[in-house]
Amino acid sequence: MSRAEDVAARLAVVRRRMADACAAAGRGPDEVSLVVVTKFFPASDVRVLADLGVTDVGENRHQEASEKAAECVDLGLRWHFIGALQSNKASAVAAYADVVESVDRRKLVAPLARGAGERVVDVLLQVSLDPPGSGHRAGADPAGLAELADAVAATEHLRLRGLMAVAPLGQDPDAAFARLAAIHADLLTSHPGATTLSAGMSGDLEQAIAHGATHVRVGSAVLGPRPAVQ
Ligand SMILES: *Cc1c(COP(=O)(O)O)cnc(C)c1O
Repeated sequence: MSRAEDVAARLAVVRRRMADACAAAGRGPDEVSLVVVTKFFPASDVRVLADLGVTDVGENRHQEASEKAAECVDLGLRWHFIGALQSNKASAVAAYADVVESVDRRKLVAPLARGAGERVVDVLLQVSLDPPGSGHRAGADPAGLAELADAVAATEHLRLRGLMAVAPLGQDPDAAFARLAAIHADLLTSHPGATTLSAGMSGDLEQAIAHGATHVRVGSAVLGPRPAVQ
């Protein structure tokens, strides 16, 4: 089987899972978009995906993302940055990313706006779903979200579009995404345009769709196991 056939088969399975999850949740099949996470995979795979109708791809490391986006600029894809963001790289990321999904602190706002230049970059706030006090990984504390949202919304060349989250390891994603849905509902009362909810990966996209995800970020279920090192 060629790489294109292999990816096409996996992609069909993922699209079917998404459609089934939408049906189970009483949502329309077009209410959820797919972002294929291409981290660690070569630009040639990005071309395969574009040929198969994928419009949105996600990357989590600046160096790799910037090179791949440059190599694939002719494809007209939307590039989502989904990785931990250092403030000294934020402006460079905003120069090629169409959506920055991992904005989790105020310090990133000014450099992102600077890097956007004349463009408008879509921003999702990454919220931590880890239990309070667990020394959480990436993501803003839900308690500080309103202030961060206001800061992004007040900044030219950035557009606040919604939230992104990752279910905590080793916990029931259903409970985590239920909490996320409540946090999102709260955000929408002050920022009604922030309708995007990016949640769900290869292993938990069904639970995320059940709780209102508008975007799922799927890597290995489409592209296969990631190469261990790069
Ligand atoms: C790698 C990654 C994904 C995709 O994970 P899979 O389990 O391969 O689908 C989604 N979101 C983020 C933030 C990631 O880093």
